[in-house]
Formats: sequence, C-alpha cells, structure tokens
Amino acid sequence: MKVPFANLYSQYVSIKEEIDAEIIDVIKNSQYILSEKVEEFELNFSFWNGSKYCVGCGNGTDAIEIALQALNIGPGDEVIVPAMSWVSSAEAVIRQGAKPVFADIDSSTYCLDYRTVEELITAKTKAIMVVHLYGYPADCVLFKSLCKQEGIFLIEDCAQAHGAFLENKKVGTFGDIGIFSFYPGKNLGAYGDAGCLVTDQEELASICKQIRNHGQISKYLFNRIGRNSRLDGIQAAILNVKLKYIDSWNNHRRYLAKLYSELISAKEIVRPFVHETSDHVFHLYVIRTENRNALKSFLEDRDIQSLIHYPQILPEIPSISSHLDTQKLDYPISRMLANEALSIPLSDTLSYEAVHYVSDSINDFFNL
Ligand SMILES: *Cc1c(COP(=O)(O)O)cnc(C)c1O
Repeated sequence: MKVPFANLYSQYVSIKEEIDAEIIDVIKNSQYILSEKVEEFELNFSFWNGSKYCVGCGNGTDAIEIALQALNIGPGDEVIVPAMSWVSSAEAVIRQGAKPVFADIDSSTYCLDYRTVEELITAKTKAIMVVHLYGYPADCVLFKSLCKQEGIFLIEDCAQAHGAFLENKKVGTFGDIGIFSFYPGKNLGAYGDAGCLVTDQEELASICKQIRNHGQISKYLFNRIGRNSRLDGIQAAILNVKLKYIDSWNNHRRYLAKLYSELISAKEIVRPFVHETSDHVFHLYVIRTENRNALKSFLEDRDIQSLIHYPQILPEIPSISSHLDTQKLDYPISRMLANEALSIPLSDTLSYEAVHYVSDSINDFFNL
C-alpha cells in the first residue's frame, strides 16, 4: 500500500463541481485582485473564526510582517518567538528590523513555554508571538494576561491551527492580531499562496488593509509605505468553497489522530499530547522517537511518506543566526524535536485503512 503524506488532488475531486464553477465565475467577471470574492471571504472567515475583522493578503509570512508593521514593531524592539517553528516566525521579525528572542517550547504541548517566556521579557520586548504548532492551541489565556500585565502585544501565528480552540474560543481571537496561512497543504489551503490577518481592533484592521495595498486608504491616496500583498479573486473563491468543509475536515483529522494514538502501541514512541478542554486540529500528527531517522527510512521502504517538522531549531538556521548576537540559552525541548520528531501521513482524505497500515508498520519497526 502506498501512503503519500497528503493527497490534495483527492480533496479537489470531492468538491470539484463547486470549485470549477467558482473559478470560472471569477474568470467571467475578470475580477482577479481583491474584488467582491475577497470581501466575501474576509466576511465569511471572520464570522467563522469569531473575529471582528479579517484582512486577506498574499501569504502567511506576509501576514506576520504586516502585523508587525501595523503594531509599529521595528529596529530596537524585541519579539519573543519559539525556537521550534517554521522559519517565517523569525524571518519576519528580522525583516522588520526587530530582534527575535527565542524561547524554548513546552515538552508536551510543543508550544511556547510560559516560564521561559516570562524570564525573557525586557524593556525592549514589544510582543510575544505564539505559534500554535502542529495545530495544538497554545495557552493564550495565560499569554494574554502576561501581555496585558507587561503592556506588550500578543501575536498569534495560527498558520497550522485553523479552527483549533481553547475555552470555546478559536485561536486568533486571543491576541491583538492573529495570522493565518492558506498555503495549499494547510488545514484550509488555497490553490497557490494566500493568507490573512484577523483582529477585533478596527484601527489595526484598517492599517493592515492599507499596508497590504501600497499604503492606500483609497485609490491614489497613499497614507504610509506599504507593499503589494493582496489576496486574489481566484484564491478567495476557492477558499469560500473550502471554508464550508473545514469543520468536517478537521473532525476527520481528529478522528484519524485518535485512531493513530490507539493503534501505535510501540512504547518507544511518544504520541501527541491531547488536553481535555482545548482542541487540537492536527495539522500534523507528530510522533517522537530516538530512532527517528531509521524509522523514517523503514517507512519509506514500505511506501509510506513521512516528513520532519522541523529538522533545525530556528536560532541555528544560518540565515537567522547570522542576524543574532550570541544567545546564551539552550533550547533542549526544541532541539529534542529537531532530532526526534516525525510527522506521519495525515490529511482530511486519508483512509482508516491507511492509518492501520502506517500504525502497524511503526509497531513492526520496533517489534520485528
Ligand atoms: C506555513 C506557516 C507560515 C507561513 O505561511 P506561508 O503562507 O507559507 O507564508 C508561518 N508560520 C507557520 C507556523 C507556518 O506553518
């Protein structure tokens, strides 16, 4: 049995009529940039997420940069980010001229470790950027009160966590601003690059809207230096269709994750942590084992594709570290993930049969 990591085409086939009709509609109207479809999506997404405002933009990385700029974060400022995340978390901070200060992650949730973060706050700290890694909702209730107490901003990177919630509120609604990526492989994915920002603050939303479109308040009224990072009509139309299915797709992911956790019995494997009152959307199902590399090739021999998220900690990526003064801290948990994490196949179209096959293969690796 061949098990690819994910299969975007089979998802398309399941909603083909609607998607095709929507794409043709955009082409007929030839409204390719921003447009009514984008406004419709922004409205739908903000409603679905429980946020007051949504601003569509070019991709998730741009969304982080736009958020930082809108919050006036730049040279001389520090932003606390997790040492284990996608490169954008640190890259965007550096591109804004600010300094990323890395904090380790928690050994069970894999999200920012509260204690470590508290210790890293200085007079220069302007924001904490929480990443809901792998789809697990980081404890934003705690981080929100810390940010309030310190008078700093909370930014939520929700690129891997569309629909994850804690205390009945979706991620992205806790911070001053939340960012989402609609990269094709994300839980809600476009057919190309796309992203958005969400916020409850009208002024912030309006600044983000200006920044994504050359700083314009209205046509030719340039209010600030912005950029070109607009969401396009075709991507918005596709996202509008897919938004109707995201909840059921997330449920399928949760169900498969539960199945994996029941079926993977090898005691050498650490399975993802699940909490009773918060809700994981399993963008990735990440297991840990000291034999990670050998397990990965064993699975490859059985036609099972697995991936590593991520093989390096952010402060040791050369493009990032060249911008840092020496940082004294070690990041043992982040480093452990870099060495031991393995993401096994999981998507909204993966079959139960495939989950059984992958689980059996993992158990075989340790038992044979
Ligand atoms: C995917 C991702 C991003 C970046 O999104 P793009 O749309 O690819 O630019 C940022 N942060 C995290 C945690 C991500 O997984």
